[in-house]
Amino acid sequence: MLNKTLAELAKGLDQGEFSSVELTQAYLERIKREDSKYNSFITVTEELALTQATAADETRAAGNATSMTGLPIAHKDIFCTQGVRTSAGSKMLDNFVSPYDATVIRQFNAAGAVTLGKTNMDEFAMGSSNESSFYGPSRNPWNTDHVPGGSSGGSAAAIAAGLAPAATGTDTGGSIRQPAAFCNLTGLKPTYGRVSRYGMIAYASSLDQGGPMAQTAEDAAMMMNVMAGLDPLDSTSADRQVPDYTAKLDAPLTGLKIGLPKEFLSANLNPEMATLIHAAVKEYEALGATVTEVSLPNTALSVPAYYIIAPAEASSNLSRFDGVRYGYRCEDPKNLEDMYKRTRGEGFGTEVKRRIMVGTYALSEGFYDAYYKKAQQIRRLIQEDFVRVLSEVDVIMGPTTPTPAFKLGEKTSDPVEMYMEDIFTLSLNLAGLPGMSIPCGMNNGLPVGLQIIGNYFAEEKLLNVAHKFQQATDWHTLKPAGL
Ligand code: GLN
Repeated sequence: MLNKTLAELAKGLDQGEFSSVELTQAYLERIKREDSKYNSFITVTEELALTQATAADETRAAGNATSMTGLPIAHKDIFCTQGVRTSAGSKMLDNFVSPYDATVIRQFNAAGAVTLGKTNMDEFAMGSSNESSFYGPSRNPWNTDHVPGGSSGGSAAAIAAGLAPAATGTDTGGSIRQPAAFCNLTGLKPTYGRVSRYGMIAYASSLDQGGPMAQTAEDAAMMMNVMAGLDPLDSTSADRQVPDYTAKLDAPLTGLKIGLPKEFLSANLNPEMATLIHAAVKEYEALGATVTEVSLPNTALSVPAYYIIAPAEASSNLSRFDGVRYGYRCEDPKNLEDMYKRTRGEGFGTEVKRRIMVGTYALSEGFYDAYYKKAQQIRRLIQEDFVRVLSEVDVIMGPTTPTPAFKLGEKTSDPVEMYMEDIFTLSLNLAGLPGMSIPCGMNNGLPVGLQIIGNYFAEEKLLNVAHKFQQATDWHTLKPAGL
């Protein structure tokens, strides 16, 4: 019963092949047995999972099951979960047990899903490799010498290792799409505002967006049916109707207009990856799509703009961690100032401190115009590039990442090299657009992701475009050796 997609598991539950309790127990046992290899979970919520699974089986017996009832899901440890430690991968919150549920958690609970546990992540979602976690790095099931990507690396590793059929993630600059690409998964970063941010520990509030990480586009659609929608508790959530994301998965792609940005397929891209991206686009042509070259001229500026804006917002968001209200507090502070300094000095890791310093500097008087304001102006230019191109084509395609998963430790000594990993993903967050990563091939035994970018609120279209590819190819069905 393991190694199935959510859709297949839902069918198995419906047909009485197994109960949610049996399914949940099987996953919990596998996590216990295998996760020391991947370190994909920070907390396993065994008791909660079995209580929810028992309730789900009762709901089903009473004839009230939804398509999510009884399905086990893992949640990134950035979503506040009532009664459960919610750490955001930081020592600062190692002792924080959330008194409330994030909206996303509440939605999955209300739909009858089962929470297997909370997954590993880069500290406060800052990173592209999961190496900044206080709980140690997570490892890529395709090759445990390699990173699973970040910051939602634990969610990706858990699914790829068969420790959870699907998981939630968040994406501020690529953290759903990049780990999905590195672990051969399907990840969707929704339009900014499509999924509530309430109870999602804030990194950079104008960029953060939660979304699904799954084995297939169909499963991502099932999860979006649970996650998407207006939330009165998040003033930036969108007041727009939520479609049934599974309804149009099979719509034909005849006449679909694809734009290939020349900046995404430039000389910087590893040539074998470029070949795989072109092959995927050929597949789309066979499905009836037409392809044109387009230009997103400000792509290269997304890295410097993002790495001002995100740290600026982070420096403000993270000021709340002061040792007073909740979370870590240093031992025996001498006075208030000593408490602030030592709490933050001891509670935050190196990358988080770097971001706080960069962000505070960029917002300080005298530098604000030169850095923050300039970055916001570039952000606007990047958005305008996308709006122009998306008035001519339906979707934009390219690689999710410049290389497949790199080795642990390979980029930790040079933060800028790590930031360059995000070159193809950051611009979407700056523009607020939705994007997906889906498996499109293998390079030296490591997965490669195709990125698909759509217009605002075009999640239904993206899922349809991804699903049709998955009906025609079997890259997404490949599993790491032995799994
Ligand atoms: N790698 C990017 C960063 O470190 C994006 C992370 C994310 O999307 N949460 O900020």
